[in-house]
Amino acid sequence: MKLYAPSTIEAIKEKHRFQLSKSLGQNFITDKHVIERIVKGADPSEKDLVIEIGPGIGVLTAEAAQQAAKVIAIEIDSKLIPILGETLAEYDNVEVINQDILKTDLNGIIDEQGQLGNFTGDVKIIGNLPYYITTPIIMHILENSIHAESITVMMQKEVADRIKASPGNKTYGAISAAVQYYCEVEQVISVPKEVFVPRPKVDSAVLKLTIRKETPVDLIDEKAFFACIKAGFGQRRKTLLNSLTGTYGLSKDEIRTILEKAGIDPVRRAETLDMNEFADIANGVASAKQ
Ligand code: SAM
Repeated sequence: MKLYAPSTIEAIKEKHRFQLSKSLGQNFITDKHVIERIVKGADPSEKDLVIEIGPGIGVLTAEAAQQAAKVIAIEIDSKLIPILGETLAEYDNVEVINQDILKTDLNGIIDEQGQLGNFTGDVKIIGNLPYYITTPIIMHILENSIHAESITVMMQKEVADRIKASPGNKTYGAISAAVQYYCEVEQVISVPKEVFVPRPKVDSAVLKLTIRKETPVDLIDEKAFFACIKAGFGQRRKTLLNSLTGTYGLSKDEIRTILEKAGIDPVRRAETLDMNEFADIANGVASAKQ
């Protein structure tokens, strides 16, 4: 049975009286090549644990189960749980958890799976993300220091473009700077909207985010770094001098001194700053407040 075939999805819907939920971002993949490319992008070995976000009817789960030691799939829609029980019945290394990914203690799951001896290698996160919460899911994983090697996920092309954008590019923003601080970003594949059921309005892309083992810049205070990114991009059109004034409880003159010490022209805008420059400002602020 081709699990990814539109006819299979129709048959499952009919048998289980299942309706696809738009509000849960249920756009299922119907293309074997795309499924293979996502899992190949994550590159799980037979020692690895794969955590899948939103398995749907299990097309990526089944592909990953053939390569990894163990697959944990986290699905919010309770109506999909009995369906997954059937579609993944032949794999004894798959466990489905009926939970909201944003409320899931991923490090707890990883520790438990390690203690049970279910994997001895790395943790690789995969998924065709529900588009309504793409950014919250990625930031949930990164901000909570989940012990994963990489995150290989499909998202709207527009979000992928923002995440991988460089300074000076008009799509470069807070999400680019934040994700690139935590990860090396590469695009695995671009995916046309025609391969989904139902068909979304926009095209998609798969990014592989390889989580850095060491931070790319030295920071005195990580919070000051993220505050600088947030304030700078919160008011993109303002000069750095204006957007940062008040952010740290510092006056305009104090911000001007910090920018000048960092060798950054106060009339520049956040969208032109690279990671080292954000770090220089944040470290200037941290030193001024010590
Ligand atoms: N992996 C399947 C595929 O590619 O065909 C389904 C992908 S579909 C874009 C997104 C999946 O995420 C759906 O199964 C949806 O029910 C699930 N989902 C939505 N919100 C979720 C959440 N907060 N936590 C876990 N799963 C969620």
